[in-house]
Amino acid sequence: MDFAELQRAHELDLYPKRPVTVVRGRNALLWDDRGRDYVDCVCGHGVANLGHGHPRVLAAIREQADRLVTLSNLFFNDRRARLLERLVAISPAGLVRAFLCNSGTEAVEAALKLTRLATGRTEFVCATRGFHGRTMGALSATFKPEYRQPFEPLVPGFHFAPFNDLDALRAQVTPATAGVLLEPVQGESGVHLGDPEYFRGVRRLCDERGALLILDEVQTGFGRTGTMFACEQLGIEPDVMCLAKAIAAGLPMGAIVCGERVLPPTGAHGSTFGGNPLCCAAALAAIDVLIEDDLPRRAREKGDYLVGRLRAARPAKVREIRHLGLMIGIEVEGGAAESILELLDAGVMTFAGGPTAIRVYPPLTIEYELLDRVAEALSHVLG
Ligand code: PLP
Repeated sequence: MDFAELQRAHELDLYPKRPVTVVRGRNALLWDDRGRDYVDCVCGHGVANLGHGHPRVLAAIREQADRLVTLSNLFFNDRRARLLERLVAISPAGLVRAFLCNSGTEAVEAALKLTRLATGRTEFVCATRGFHGRTMGALSATFKPEYRQPFEPLVPGFHFAPFNDLDALRAQVTPATAGVLLEPVQGESGVHLGDPEYFRGVRRLCDERGALLILDEVQTGFGRTGTMFACEQLGIEPDVMCLAKAIAAGLPMGAIVCGERVLPPTGAHGSTFGGNPLCCAAALAAIDVLIEDDLPRRAREKGDYLVGRLRAARPAKVREIRHLGLMIGIEVEGGAAESILELLDAGVMTFAGGPTAIRVYPPLTIEYELLDRVAEALSHVLG
C-alpha cells in the first residue's frame, strides 16, 4: 500500500509534504515504512521534547486509559487537579491559576479573551516576525502577511512593533492597549532570541501603562531553551503565559497560566476536551521526567555541544547560528528548503524557520551519538 498516495488523495493539501511515510519512533529516531531510520530534529514542531515512546509517559497513558479518558469540566478530577497544581508550581511565582485547552492557538485565544476582560481594553501590541497560531484571534496577532491576508478582515486592534526595539513598542502601547503579546524566542520566523534588557523594559512599560504582558511560551516551554520556561532567562514574569506543544509529551494539550489580575467570571470561556484526564496524566508524567532527569540543563549542554561542533566545522553555507538550548536556527546561504531535503536524504529530519533558516529541534533526551550524526550531516550538507 502506498500510504503517501492514499493520504494525498483524501487530505486537504495544506502542508507541503516530504516524501517519507513515518510509521514508528523510539526516542530520537523515527522509522519509515521501508525500515530506514532518521534522527528526528523536527519533533512534531517542538512537541516531542521527551522523544518518542518515553516509558514513563506510556505507562501513565496506559494506566489512565484504563481508568478514565474523558470527563466534563463540570466535575472535578484527580489527574486534572494534580496537573493544575503542578503547572502553577513550576510557573513563575506570580502565576497562580491555569486553564487547560488543546493547542497553542487555543491557549493564545484564551489569553487574548481573558486579557480583554481583565483590562476592559481591546487592543494588543505584538512583534513583527511573531507567530501565535492560525485561528482568527491568534492569526490577528501573527505578523506574516502570507498567513494573514487571505483571511482578512481579522480581529481589529492588533498593532506590530519590531522585536527587541523598546522605543518602537513604547510608541504603540496606548491607553487602549489590553496586552503586549510576545514570544521569548521567535521560533517560526527562524529562532530570533529575545534580549533580556528589552523584555525587562517591556515589563516596566506594561506596568506603567496598565497593560498585561502575555508571553507565548508555546514553543519555548518545557525545557527546550535550557530552563523550564524561557522567561526565567529573561528575568521577568508575565501576567499570562501560553503553553502547548511539549506539555503532554505528544498528546494534544494547551494551557494558560495567569496572575492575580486575570480572574474571569464563571462561564467566560471554555473547552470541551480541555483538561481531559488522559492528557493530564501524560502531562504529569512528562513534567516529572523533565524535572527528575534535569532535562532543561541537558538541553543547554546538548545545544552548546551541537552548536559548538557545527561552529568548529565552519560549513561554507552557514551565515549565522542562533540558539538557546536545543532551540537552534541555522541561517543558510541561498534559502533553507533545498538543504532540508538534502538533510532528509542524509537521514536527519529538520524544518524551516522563515525562508532562510533551518530549525533543528532534537528531543532533549537525544543520545550524544545521535547528536554527532546530526552534526556530521549538517556539516556535510552545508559544507
Ligand atoms: N504560538 C507559538 C509560539 C507557536 O510556535 C505555535 C505553533 O507553532 C503556536 C502558538 C500555535 O500552536 P498550535 O499549532 O498548537 O495551535
